[in-house]
Order: sequence, then structure tokens, then C-alpha cells
Amino acid sequence: MKVKDILLGAHTSISGGLYKAIEEGEQIGCTAIQIFTKSSRSWFTSKLTLKEIEKFKETQKKSNIKIIVAHTSYLINLGSPNKDTEKKSINSLQQELTRCELLNIPYLVLHPGAHLKSGEELCLKKIAENLDLILKESTGKTMILLENTAGQGTNIGYKFEHLKQIRDMAKEKNKLGVCLDTCHVFSSGYDISSPEGYEKVITEFKKIIGLKNLKVIHLNDSKTELNSKKDRHENIGKGKIPLKIFNLIMNDKRLFKIPKILETPVNNFLEYKPELDLLKSMVK
Ligand SMILES: [Zn+2]
Ligand SMILES: [Zn+2]
Repeated sequence: MKVKDILLGAHTSISGGLYKAIEEGEQIGCTAIQIFTKSSRSWFTSKLTLKEIEKFKETQKKSNIKIIVAHTSYLINLGSPNKDTEKKSINSLQQELTRCELLNIPYLVLHPGAHLKSGEELCLKKIAENLDLILKESTGKTMILLENTAGQGTNIGYKFEHLKQIRDMAKEKNKLGVCLDTCHVFSSGYDISSPEGYEKVITEFKKIIGLKNLKVIHLNDSKTELNSKKDRHENIGKGKIPLKIFNLIMNDKRLFKIPKILETPVNNFLEYKPELDLLKSMVK
């Protein structure tokens, strides 16, 4: 494997303009980045202008960033038992999907949802139905990726089976993929702390979801223990997941073409650089 062919990067900031996230990524040697296409803490935003779209596409063209992934806002809950929240979530996700299509972003990562004590089965069903509602209207190429979760609170998506169930129930399967977060894998109880454990988890993922449906990997270490059901990201090598597991991931031929994105805690985007360099240095 050649280091320059690896799709590796980090979640960068759009403050000051969407294109700024690409410039940040370029500055620290990314070949892939993840962004929020709007504030992660607001439901809606104003429409993209032609100028914004052009500037974004132009900046990417001139950069080494081969793939840009988007992440939805944290407010969206397609499985909410509250009708008002559910409706707002559908409309908000619709707007985010449209933004991605306009910006030529192929993947939009989404946390499946939380049942807020209304029950997992009902929540899974709602999510599948609402995804269909949104996806059947979309004419673009952007796929929605369901991200596995740590299982904090009443969040679903902490088992591969949840992600499979949603995809199975949805009609628009071809527009639904999966994003795997290593911190969430570990804190939801999949033991990837040894090479044997890692292999077992990959095999299980293959069997339940299929590697062809895995489109993005979030590379994060975990501040908390195995099965803690907490979502606390840590810098690579500083948490509970052994460094050798990240080495395995970086050299796993089955995962070679899948974009790998850091969402580790940093005060400034420049702090991603040593982590990226460490990961690159592992590639044999
Ligand atoms: Zn996420
Ligand atoms: Zn993540």
C-alpha cells in the first residue's frame, strides 16, 4: 500500500466559509475530510448560494482532498416519539441531504436515533420509514450512512443488528450505507482490544452488514472502558484501544479503500497533524 493513496483525514471546521474546511485539511496533509455543512447545533440554515457552491468545488479541485464526507447535526432524531421533533428531524435531514448533493458530497453520516423510552423496535421502524420518505424524494447521488453508536442513553445503533434492521426495513437500500466509529464499537461492547478480537468483530460485521456497505470509518480512541456505553473520544494511542489495533486497521487490505476520518479531541485543527502522521507511519 502507498501512503499517498490512503484516504485519511479529520473532521475540519467550516467557520469562515465551507471552503475553509478543505483548506484546513490540505494544510495538515489530509486526503479525506469530514465537515458539518451547517452548524451542528441548529435545525435549519439559509440556502447555499451559487458563489458558496462554486468556491467549495473549486477549492476541492485544487487540493489533494479526494473525498469529502458530511456529518449531520446532533439534533436530528428520526426515531423520536415526539411528533414535532420527528417532523423537524425529517425536514432538517432533507435540507442537509440537499446541501450535500449541491456540494457533490457523496456521503452524509447520521446517528440513527434515540427511542427516549418509547422502545427500540418502534424506533427502528420509524427511522426506516422516515429515511425512505427522504430518500425517495432525493434525485442526487448522496448516500446516507448510519453510524454505529456507543449506546449512550436511549440511542440505538449500538449493535450491528440495529443498522442491518433499518436497512432491511427501508426500500431505498441503495442509498443507505454504514459508517463505523472505532470508539463507539469499543464502548458499545465489541472487544477490539486484541488482534483476535478485532478479527472476530470484522467477521461479525461482514456477516451481518457486509463490507460492501461500509463506506466510512471514524478513527477514534476511547476515553472509557469496553462496554461503558459512553461516547467519549480520545486521541489515538491515549485511550483504551491499543495502538496495535489502529495499526491493524491501517494495514487491513479489506478496508484500504474506505475513507478514514479522525474525530479526536483537539483545540486547534493543527493538533490532528501528529495523529495523522502517526497513522501514516504505520502503513507498511
Ligand atoms: Zn457521529
Ligand atoms: Zn463518529
